[in-house]
Amino acid sequence: MIYVGNHISSSKGFAAMGRQALKLGANSFAFFTRNPRGGSAKAIDPADVQAYLSIAKEHAFGTIVAHAPYTLNACSSKPEVREFSWRTFGEDLERMEYIPGNYYNFHPGSHVGQGMKEGIRWITQMLNTHLKPNQHTTVLLETMAGKGSEVGGRFEELKAILDGVEQKEHIGICLDTCHVWDAGYDIVGHLEEVLEEFDQVIGLSWLKALHMNDSKNPLGAKKDRHARIGEGHIGVEAFGRIVRHSALKGRPMILETPNEEEGWAREIKLLREQEEI
Ligand code: FE
Ligand code: FE
Ligand code: ZN
Repeated sequence: MIYVGNHISSSKGFAAMGRQALKLGANSFAFFTRNPRGGSAKAIDPADVQAYLSIAKEHAFGTIVAHAPYTLNACSSKPEVREFSWRTFGEDLERMEYIPGNYYNFHPGSHVGQGMKEGIRWITQMLNTHLKPNQHTTVLLETMAGKGSEVGGRFEELKAILDGVEQKEHIGICLDTCHVWDAGYDIVGHLEEVLEEFDQVIGLSWLKALHMNDSKNPLGAKKDRHARIGEGHIGVEAFGRIVRHSALKGRPMILETPNEEEGWAREIKLLREQEEI
């Protein structure tokens, strides 16, 4: 059995997200902690959280994967952007304590001319400022496409961040299929070798979740344009091998495809069918 779902709008609260996931045939999902383009977050209603938890329990949901806003850049060259990003990150982690035991995924950032080393240093410093020994959320660094000055296009860059993090029990990696493909990791022709490389450089035990996106661009394009499953350069067969892979079992698999309700429900069904092949 795989845990699969899509990005769900959080505007109506947690219980509504749980019901929406059920409607689409999902048993995990992702949501933005606030408007993906930034902005303020809604107050959390504990009764709503309780209602969600009972839905999740009844339907054996897997871990859910919150996503930080895209505007976060922990390693911006602008102090005010860095400050906003670090503060937002810290506030989001406090809010995540309402739904303990889940994941909070973020894009490591773009170093914008400061160099990879400096970018990695800022990101590590943010994590060491905000990760607390007693927190109940695992923060996930997302693998990136390596477009522009993005940090996290290479496994080595993510490993360098992990190495610098003090609270190692609260950190992990989310592998985005479109991003690694665009970064040049051939998960279509050489999935085995890519996972081996991940294992050697980072270690597969750090891999906690996947983003399941096809790519509008060929291998190594460094573009980051998501396609629907089967409508891009990765293709259905490759996703089949991913959902059936024993080393990836049990991790939540989240769709971030350009789609709407029926489309996501179809993709969720498709991935479940692929698992059975
Ligand atoms: Fe992302
Ligand atoms: Fe992603
Ligand atoms: Zn992306």
